[in-house]
Amino acid sequence: MVVSVHQLDDGAWLSVNDERTVPVSQLWLLARHDICDCEQADFLAEGFVEVGVDWPDVEGRIAGQCIACGASGVTDWLAMGRVDRETGAFRKVVPSSVHVPRRRTKLATPE
Ligand SMILES: [Zn+2]
Repeated sequence: MVVSVHQLDDGAWLSVNDERTVPVSQLWLLARHDICDCEQADFLAEGFVEVGVDWPDVEGRIAGQCIACGASGVTDWLAMGRVDRETGAFRKVVPSSVHVPRRRTKLATPE
């Protein structure tokens, strides 16, 4: 199954299969991150920097700011959601639950 993933409107949206799915301006709770020294960062997303697929996960790197301490930066790869193998439907994650960014060892091609 082919999953097409893009960022749209200068990083304002994550688009999956030509549908706007995840907007920025949401708060992501990040753990084990390197944005700042906060144990858990309340990270306000300002824009998608890179998006990709590590099947079946749709992932992205987000630029933004920790609203607790004010530090800004770009996250490592965060799972944005998952594509259902059967139906191809995209289910997005809940930003306010805890997310752990991870470095990529292999780079998936978006298309
Ligand atoms: Zn912080």
